[in-house]
Amino acid sequence: MHPEFRADIHCHTNCSDGSDDPIALLHLAKEVDLQGLSITDHDTIAAYAPKLFEMAKELGIEILPGIEISSEWERASVHILGYGFDLEDRAFRTFLEEMQTRRTERNRAILEKLAKFKVPVLEKELQALADQLPYKKTIGRPHIAELMVQKGYVATTQEAFEKYLKEGACCYSSGIRYTPRDVIDKIHLAKGKAVLAHPHFIKRRHFLKSLLSLPLDGIECYYAKLPKAQELPWLQLAKERNWIATGGSDYHGALKPHIALGSSWVNRTIFDKLLNP
Ligand code: AMP
Ligand code: ZN
Ligand code: FE
Ligand code: FE
Repeated sequence: MHPEFRADIHCHTNCSDGSDDPIALLHLAKEVDLQGLSITDHDTIAAYAPKLFEMAKELGIEILPGIEISSEWERASVHILGYGFDLEDRAFRTFLEEMQTRRTERNRAILEKLAKFKVPVLEKELQALADQLPYKKTIGRPHIAELMVQKGYVATTQEAFEKYLKEGACCYSSGIRYTPRDVIDKIHLAKGKAVLAHPHFIKRRHFLKSLLSLPLDGIECYYAKLPKAQELPWLQLAKERNWIATGGSDYHGALKPHIALGSSWVNRTIFDKLLNP
């Protein structure tokens, strides 16, 4: 066993846009010698079924409830990580249901635009993709991109984003409609900690500044293969604000094969701060 406690607290399963089943992910975590894990699927806690906890216990892996929630601000997408919330919280579950309804409507708007641009993807094709896996819960642009590759419109999912799906592209549609502040409040009401995900992706300084004025509990400082020097400004900021400095790989399995589970991680102290509010 690794002498040091290490927990990867940012990873995705096939409940959203990862490729691994939650149980398979636990086995992988064991293989790479992690002692803690938080699955942070986009807008769903479907991975947190009783059998996940049973298997985690069997493998000796500690689980921190987690989620990565989509929000929108100034027509840009912002991801907020939630940790240590009450998985049974009624209001939180209702909020996530509402989020799924908004996603369905937004997917529909994107498909309408794709049809206009003569690269049609049908709703039933998207649904068939979702139905292939027993878990798949959160369906969004990555799945639409996958179908565009299958249909031969583009060579790669990256090309689908560049040409059609990224923010500002011809077939992009916003539509999540919750602000980062809304999402932070929902996480707090469910007794969780709210963390700004991958801040190094945010390039507009003014925009970043407005996000950093929100009532966050933490900021994601360690990320995938982010070089040490690029972690430093975020660690410094966390220290100044007395925020929890979190990190994880943002593992997606075969969908982002260059990112390995455990390539970023947090220690016992950080893990416990998020687990026990
Ligand atoms: P959605 O939640 O439907 O808006 O999809 C967001 C997901 O799409 C993100 O978590 C990324 O994995 C992926 N994504 C977003 N922008 C891009 C991009 N420019 N290229 C490739 N993937 C992207
Ligand atoms: Zn993702
Ligand atoms: Fe993200
Ligand atoms: Fe993520």
